[in-house]
Amino acid sequence: MFEKILIANRGEIALRIQRACREMGIKTVVVHSEADREAKYVKLADESVCIGPAASNLSYLSMPAIISAAEVTDAQAIHPGYGFLSENADFAERVEQSGFVFIGPRAESIRLMGDKVSAKHAMIEAGVPCVPGSDGALPDDPKVIVQTARKVGYPVIIKAAGGGGGRGMRVVHTEAALLNAVTMTKTEAGAAFGNPEVYMEKFLENPRHVEIQILADQHGNAVWLGERDCSMQRRHQKVIEEAPAPGIPRKTIEKIGNRCADACKKIGYRGAGTFEFLYENGEFYFIEMNTRVQVEHPVTEMITGIDIVQEQIRIAFGEKLRFKQSDIELRGHAIECRINAEDPFKFTPSPGRIATWHTPGGPGIRVDSHAYAGYFVPPNYDSMIGKVISYGSTREQAIRRMQIALSEMVVEGIQTNIPLHRELMVDARFIEGGTNIHYLEHKLADMPVLSKKDK
Ligand code: ADP
Repeated sequence: MFEKILIANRGEIALRIQRACREMGIKTVVVHSEADREAKYVKLADESVCIGPAASNLSYLSMPAIISAAEVTDAQAIHPGYGFLSENADFAERVEQSGFVFIGPRAESIRLMGDKVSAKHAMIEAGVPCVPGSDGALPDDPKVIVQTARKVGYPVIIKAAGGGGGRGMRVVHTEAALLNAVTMTKTEAGAAFGNPEVYMEKFLENPRHVEIQILADQHGNAVWLGERDCSMQRRHQKVIEEAPAPGIPRKTIEKIGNRCADACKKIGYRGAGTFEFLYENGEFYFIEMNTRVQVEHPVTEMITGIDIVQEQIRIAFGEKLRFKQSDIELRGHAIECRINAEDPFKFTPSPGRIATWHTPGGPGIRVDSHAYAGYFVPPNYDSMIGKVISYGSTREQAIRRMQIALSEMVVEGIQTNIPLHRELMVDARFIEGGTNIHYLEHKLADMPVLSKKDK
């Protein structure tokens, strides 16, 4: 096994990877910016290297700084976590060219899946059902664009081939608005992702977001670890995730899960990955693949008993998967609430020093967070400061345990979205299960009283 791994990330996922390494007896090197010098996981690391100032482009996104840190510390492999350089094919390539192992897929898989147009092509070829839409990227010819939209049927969504993080998408309801929307999305995509290519999909009106976790080794084996329902979203960003997805027939999920595992074998994928789908009227439609560990991986770990980060490391080292599909058993139900440093109803970021940090515990409660009392939440990065995960033998028990956990949790000094989560855990429609991707935004729009009370 590797003796030393460099963690090229920050926050809760840096700590999560560190814990996986320590359990496996692997030494850790943590790289950090000046803003993260005080983080506890930096102190817990065997070695740490400051790689630059707070600004991500000068630290967590600096490939030469990270690779030099691996060189001076003699690390053998680099775990990129999620976000930052985790889905950057050039980084994966440079890591391997410099003689280190990239804990993730091969650069060519990242490239294939990072471009949503080529990803869709590959999935169609592998027999994975996709959202109906344009055949590849939209051409410049306005006549063809209008024709395509008529064929797909309104409403349509224009999406950037290089998009990510819920950005680079525009819904179009009428032909009159179409060409302008295409031009605007192209311009934005060029500026934001360095790739102006856009494509068109049917805009599904009331879908759920359901995704399949997979693991594939370098020896042609692939398994899927059940599904996650991530429909509770705001601005295309996930807020709550759960596994399994309530109310979907197991047969339907098994069919799609097997397709995903087969697709991995077909494209020679290695590592952990997620196939994201929209689910509407009993059908799955592929939207994209994430070629990394995801924020919501713990709900899958809770119901499968498999440590996804440790498996990533074993796969990167070249080991064979230790289980077959028939060994994967899903047990119970898990829910994750993302805890963000933000106003719970206005959503403005709330960085600053945490005065009180009291986390919940008890049976079936897991808290993944790097925060503590006295920790300063820097304003430079994503507002997520941790995740509370509950597990129960039934969905009802997981919800009840989450309600209790959230009632115990106290964070003072900064604002968090815990009040919103408390509200959602007693929401009748959430408790019933199976809400669609628009549910949260509609609910928030109808909550004026609450937002006043908590202001
Ligand atoms: P990103 O890479 O930015 O996360 P995705 O393609 O995964 O983009 O889409 C993010 C979210 O946008 C989905 O979870 C869903 O809420 C919405 N979305 C994307 N495509 C469609 C579609 N064809 N119809 C309806 N909603 C969509």
